[in-house]
Amino acid sequence: MINLRACRQCHFISDQAKCPRCGGETSKEWQGYLVVVDPLRSMIAQKMGIKAGGRYALRVK
Ligand SMILES: [Zn+2]
Repeated sequence: MINLRACRQCHFISDQAKCPRCGGETSKEWQGYLVVVDPLRSMIAQKMGIKAGGRYALRVK
């Protein structure tokens, strides 16, 4: 993974300085990798308030 960043607000992972999903600031310091395929069936996704599939970080510093 090269220079992947995670959004501080929605935890969405991208390679951009601003989150393409919510426009929030992204951070290079994050931990845990979560791939959400079906947010409605994922307990973790529901806990984190994820409503769309994609790649997310579990923790963002
Ligand atoms: Zn975001």
